[in-house]
Amino acid sequence: MSLIFDADKCTACGQCVETCLFGVLRLEGENLVIGEGCTLCGACVDACDFGALSLPPDMGEGPSPRPEIPPDGIWVFAEQRHGELAPVALELLGEARRLAETLQVKVSAVLLGAKVESLAPTLLSRGADKVYLLEHPLLAAFLEEPFAAALTALARQYQPEIILAGATYAGRAFIPGVAAALKTGLTADCTAFSIDVEKRLLQQTRPAFGGNIMATIITPRTFPQMATARPGTFKPLPEGYQGDGQVVRVDFDPGTAASRSRFVATVAEIKERVALSAAEVIIAGGRGLKEAKNFRLLEELADLLGAALGATRAAVDAGWIPYAHQIGQTGKTVSPRIYIACGISGAAQHLVGMQSSDFIVAINKDPDAPIFQVADVGLVGDLLEIVPALIQEIKKSRQE
Ligand SMILES: Cc1cc2nc3c(=O)[nH]c(=O)nc-3n(C[C@H](O)[C@H](O)[C@H](O)COP(=O)(O)OP(=O)(O)OC[C@H]3O[C@@H](n4cnc5c(N)ncnc54)[C@H](O)[C@@H]3O)c2cc1C
Repeated sequence: MSLIFDADKCTACGQCVETCLFGVLRLEGENLVIGEGCTLCGACVDACDFGALSLPPDMGEGPSPRPEIPPDGIWVFAEQRHGELAPVALELLGEARRLAETLQVKVSAVLLGAKVESLAPTLLSRGADKVYLLEHPLLAAFLEEPFAAALTALARQYQPEIILAGATYAGRAFIPGVAAALKTGLTADCTAFSIDVEKRLLQQTRPAFGGNIMATIITPRTFPQMATARPGTFKPLPEGYQGDGQVVRVDFDPGTAASRSRFVATVAEIKERVALSAAEVIIAGGRGLKEAKNFRLLEELADLLGAALGATRAAVDAGWIPYAHQIGQTGKTVSPRIYIACGISGAAQHLVGMQSSDFIVAINKDPDAPIFQVADVGLVGDLLEIVPALIQEIKKSRQE
């Protein structure tokens, strides 16, 4: 598939060349040359005032030609695990209600699983007008393919205008597959939504370029508009919403999705000692710890302070600590009263997850480490000396 160019309409104004973020377009004399690497993002199509550029006809369509107002409003994927709703499902229902009031549409929750019908009343009282219920033994445990197949089939049948899901392990795993199957766009990891009322567009805001800017993304050409959102970002509604109260049971035919993956077992994640999201004090370790066993030092300090343990992606990737502890762009966002960063350089992707902490202490042997720019107190030195000394001091002062 490639960009379609109509040379008769082109005036060689160069507007498309300036707009192309990928440097794919260039003018040779009065001729437009389309080079390698076009992503079909469509920016040049929008920029051309003369209609000389267009996208191939077999893209830009959702599951069916986009109706002016898609019939089924806003959907929220009601993620559940072992029969317990993920908090983000209720958070997104609250946000969906706010968006639905602007768009004047209904909100539906999509509940996939086996024997999960008992969760429907909670969804209805927390903001859903309707619950689509798909129960099947294959949906008992989370598997990407059957979940993607189920949500795709449902979206094709009922045609929602917007689909929202949590940017959780499950959401990140299968929602892109649904967007691809529906041939529509997806904005991952959003932290804010709003509506362009005139164009009925969902404005999807998320951190970009390592958290240095907030980008607002729209999906103007395809439908449904799809986004995942960071857990903990939106507020759930209190119980008591009274909408249509409808539960629509839908049959699910897993088709080929059943044969390609198989559920083997659930391995319980190693639990955080104190939940990161609720912790008032966090001790976080990075590559400066040098090896896994040095996390024990941080654990000892954390136990003394009643703190939670955090980590950088470098420490997680090294296998020193499970992913549940990762803080940053692709981990958790935290804002404790005290954040103690040990052997952490302060990369933008880490800072974006912790820089709203009230008081930041940084221990690093490099005086130029960027973490010191956000720290309230900086200790320049070897953490393998400073942390044990801190532990001794705390123990001593407690004995006294
Ligand atoms: C798309 C993307 C997403 C990412 N998401 C995340 C994310 O969610 N979270 C995250 O953390 N990172 C993330 N990263 C990685 C990020 O860019 C950095 O690579 C990572 O944060 C670095 O981790 P670090 O500070 O532990 O290691 P380093 O950058 O290697 O820093 C180690 C620090 O330890 C110090 N040090 C070494 N020895 C000692 C000692 N004995 N005593 C004291 N100090 C010492 C060094 O001076 C150095 O400053 C992401 C990257 C990308 C590209």
